[in-house]
Amino acid sequence: MYKDTDCGEPRESMVGSQITVAGWVHRRRDHGNLIFIDLRDRSGLLQVVFNPEHGEKAHDLAQSLRSEWVVQLTGKVVARLSGAENPDLPTGGVELSVTDLVILNRSITPPFEISDDVEVDANTRLKYRFMDLRRPRMQELLKLRHKVTHTMWNYLTEQGFTQVETPILIKSTPEGARDYVVPSRVHPGDFYALPQSPQQLKQLLMVSGVERYFQIARCFRDEDLRADRQPEHTQLDFEMSFVHQDDVMEVVEDLYTLIATETVPETTVSGPFPRLTYAESMERFGTDKPDIRFGLELTTITDTAASSEARVFQAVASSGGSIRGFVAPECGNYGRRQTDDLTEYAKSSGAQGLVFIAIDESAPSIDALEDEHVKSPLKKFLSLDVIKKIATEMGAEPGDLMLIVAGTEKLVNTVLSNLRSEMARRLDLVDSKELAFVWVYDFPLFEWDEELKKYEPAHHVFSSPKAEHMDFLDTDPGKVIGTLWDLVCNGSEMGSGSIRIHDKDLQTKLFNIIGYTEDQISERFGQLLTAFTYGAPPHGGMGLGLDRLVAILAGEDAIREVIAFPKTQSAFDPLFEAPSRIEQQQLDELHIRVVMPKT
Ligand code: ASP
Repeated sequence: MYKDTDCGEPRESMVGSQITVAGWVHRRRDHGNLIFIDLRDRSGLLQVVFNPEHGEKAHDLAQSLRSEWVVQLTGKVVARLSGAENPDLPTGGVELSVTDLVILNRSITPPFEISDDVEVDANTRLKYRFMDLRRPRMQELLKLRHKVTHTMWNYLTEQGFTQVETPILIKSTPEGARDYVVPSRVHPGDFYALPQSPQQLKQLLMVSGVERYFQIARCFRDEDLRADRQPEHTQLDFEMSFVHQDDVMEVVEDLYTLIATETVPETTVSGPFPRLTYAESMERFGTDKPDIRFGLELTTITDTAASSEARVFQAVASSGGSIRGFVAPECGNYGRRQTDDLTEYAKSSGAQGLVFIAIDESAPSIDALEDEHVKSPLKKFLSLDVIKKIATEMGAEPGDLMLIVAGTEKLVNTVLSNLRSEMARRLDLVDSKELAFVWVYDFPLFEWDEELKKYEPAHHVFSSPKAEHMDFLDTDPGKVIGTLWDLVCNGSEMGSGSIRIHDKDLQTKLFNIIGYTEDQISERFGQLLTAFTYGAPPHGGMGLGLDRLVAILAGEDAIREVIAFPKTQSAFDPLFEAPSRIEQQQLDELHIRVVMPKT
């Protein structure tokens, strides 16, 4: 070994001992007679001092040291002079008085200072990711991610799961995205697809009798990248045989509580995780990814609002739309600037406008409201009676502000759920240390695609319809609820799962409903359907995003912070400059000709 001690180790108790350390020159301060450097390795920083009286050669050589040079240093641990201690560093009570210095390597001038406190542009960080990862925070995040997967491995192993690797070169496994494809050289004209997830493979493993499978699996989806997506992501993928929905949820609940408490002890997680049906989640929060760390729940007031003189409300209600809103507590005194600001925010989510009703705090009660207590741009059209009714339905109190949106149900929900999060932020209602997990279950199995005029699976096509909804498959597929659920945390989807279909005929029926032809079925899913004819056990499982989980645990907004080598928003890797052209010879071997798009 080049070192016998890590930089972060020395303490007062080691004063007097002779040690050898190795690492990077973090900072250098030349005081002429004395040269100080902070030496950094993965464990932290150690101040070292070159004093010609203790090592003349080392002192001379130290004059040439620059940031990020790699050195090996031998010397004695000494106590720092009183007053020169650094309470911010665990090693701040001591320093290393160097007798020998070996320069192991030099560095050209770094593209940015290796520090958590310097702002560096995102592209430069990725281009020099190997330097970016030297920052202490990035090292911490790599370790956190490792701890999370380590906990997963341990816990699942104890629970009798077997880790199985599934192939990366496979065939299309539709999960609702476009495939990444890889041309085959030995089968000219044929392509592999990279797995969008190991879905069919894990189901096949259940048919194989594995019973409990898991994998920290890489999934590839060629999507137009929305904010904070990566073309490849990692998920904890698992599948269990002979289970019901509750059994699968229980495993995740135990595991995720363990992960949170073991990796970030200061977070709070409360169990059991609350459960909301999809319908309830939409009704109360306007989204299937509810952030339940705060209230501000939505209320539907369509009928009451439409009973007023307000034409907007009447028009929306008569065209089948909905009128909903929530109460911003103690915001009744908002001025014009604040309400304009919120209206702009609502419009940026697609709303035509935002209706306010403010109740002055001087009102004795909602029942005793007088005209002078109410402020609203629609006041002319809303009788005091209607306002009292709306306020009672929404649970408003004197001093509160009601925020109301009218439109199609989908639009109203989108606007209000965004507005709800925005208000929580403005009112500082979010405890950033809290991890509020919630199960959302009983999703519809299909969504109607207006453009294609056909049903699409809401999640994927392998989820089982609820037993009591089987008849709707023939009569009204839109009504079928699946044994299908999501795990949500702090308003983000953490993963989804379901009890799967394990019967060939039922699976075929679902393929038919979403419009696959017989040829497409046997081409894409023949292997799974065949396997189902050989005694497939009932089974279910989940795919849970690892990147998002680690980001939430770390309090990071962007998942690229917790991925060692992520890609940019345009799926580009600035470090390797991938994707890139390949040699003509490679194309020839693959029998591929590139036809560039006309610009
Ligand atoms: N394969 C699914 C996905 O990647 C998860 C699951 O149902 O297990 O979303």
